[in-house]
Amino acid sequence: MEVLRDKADLEFLLDLKRDGPMVLVPTMGALHEGHLSLVELGNGLGPVVVSIFVNPTQFGPNEDFESYPRVLENDLDLLGSLDVAAVFAPDVSLMYGDGVGVKVHPGSRSTGLCGEDRPGHFAGVLTVVAKLFGLIQPDIAIFGRKDAQQCLVIDQMVHDLAMPVSLVDGPTLREPDGLAMSSRNRYLDQEQRDRAGCLVKSLRAGRTLLEQGERNPAVLKAIMEKELAPADEILYAEVRRVPDMEIFPSVSGRVLLAVSARVGVTRLIDNFVLEINGDEIREGFLLGTVSC
Ligand code: AMP
Repeated sequence: MEVLRDKADLEFLLDLKRDGPMVLVPTMGALHEGHLSLVELGNGLGPVVVSIFVNPTQFGPNEDFESYPRVLENDLDLLGSLDVAAVFAPDVSLMYGDGVGVKVHPGSRSTGLCGEDRPGHFAGVLTVVAKLFGLIQPDIAIFGRKDAQQCLVIDQMVHDLAMPVSLVDGPTLREPDGLAMSSRNRYLDQEQRDRAGCLVKSLRAGRTLLEQGERNPAVLKAIMEKELAPADEILYAEVRRVPDMEIFPSVSGRVLLAVSARVGVTRLIDNFVLEINGDEIREGFLLGTVSC
């Protein structure tokens, strides 16, 4: 596994691209099994490059950029035990050495949810993803469904700017009690960790109502909000159409149930992507699917 730190190191990737479609898994590090599952998904597609970069432009002024866990050595150990061709771990100076000039303006899918709750977040995400695509030139990029709105906002950028990359979304890996794995879970103490379970409970309550035939988004939203009561602050509970993130008059087809809440000072998000077909409700996807 090559560790690439500078622009010159990226020459290594030219050889890699000769071995088939190159796959990029972008991360901010502090890796957990969810990240590793995306690497394994990529292994079925071609040589995998993982990027590790805590991107300052996607954090708001009062967010956790400074305290975000940075454990590169540990991350490299974890990736070393998998089939990873290269890790790209640039310094801020490589990514933003000339300052932040051009920024990518997110499209309509960034309206509401994290787009409203974290002003400027998606512009930061798109700017760094566009730069990673430019530097690494992957054929395929894999993102986690855990960050569903992020997947859809990136998909809109790739489509609208005709970027030559295919996107794939991987399923959300969860702890045994259902809590979505997240680098931010390590901020939680035991008491907060227990209360954090309300996010997945809220989504399960929404799904149960859908299974019982409820199609009114306001009713679904109300039950999801009610289940979030153990959190310290409810940031949102939303029901949106996939992939355009529009608000439904009546829920049908592919639906995103998305919640965000603060537990202690930690901001958590989670979602279910569901496919409604008559009375049948099953797990859905956001972008591409792969069989491997
Ligand atoms: P992050 O390091 O948090 O920016 O995440 C890097 C990638 O891993 C993103 O595409 C996330 O959506 C994805 N990811 C984060 N948590 C999970 C999870 N629990 N399961 C699967 N993918 C995840």
